[in-house]
Amino acid sequence: MESSLFMKIVFATGNPHKLKEIKEIAGDTDITFVLPAKGFNPVENGKTFEENSLIKAREAARVSQSLALADDSGLCVEALGGEPGIYSARYAETPQKRIDKLLSAIKPFENRKAKFVCAMTLVNENGDKIFSAIGECHGKIAWQQAGCGGFGYDPIFIADGQDKTIAELSQDEKNLISHRGKALRKVLKWLGENY
Ligand code: IMP
Repeated sequence: MESSLFMKIVFATGNPHKLKEIKEIAGDTDITFVLPAKGFNPVENGKTFEENSLIKAREAARVSQSLALADDSGLCVEALGGEPGIYSARYAETPQKRIDKLLSAIKPFENRKAKFVCAMTLVNENGDKIFSAIGECHGKIAWQQAGCGGFGYDPIFIADGQDKTIAELSQDEKNLISHRGKALRKVLKWLGENY
């Protein structure tokens, strides 16, 4: 990234994997991402990734009184009408149960096309939206899970142009093609041009 910003941004998440990824993706910028202050408890009742990311960003800005960035993301499977989508984190109780449920739900279908979607929203300290971006990573659901890198549904997702699941790629390889990498690079570009 060409940015030479010195900036602290609250990253609205409780998911350590997401924070790790965004720190890596933003690695060569001068932006420091920190977790929200105590009391961060967003009610994710939006109907879209965009709405939920705005809800999370506003809640982080409220508790931290700071510029805040949120990521709402998930896996959309074509044959399942876009499910689990915004409910990806709540599809079943544990990451392994979510994988098992998805593999069994898609079993009857030949069409295994799917995409990861990430909506990112940046708000100012008053909670006003100042920028938003979407990143998508298209691919298909694998026949069986493989790999132990990444998190969530990575062991069952094969991105277009790859022959391995995301969980079998290195973290750098994932960040280059991932929905989160694509969305965050748009945010960083905008910050570089506007701050
Ligand atoms: P959120 O915290 O409501 O945005 O939930 C995101 C959920 O979508 C995660 O808990 C994962 O189940 C799934 N997800 C989002 N991004 C990824 C990814 O990069 N790899 C695998 N699963 C992901």
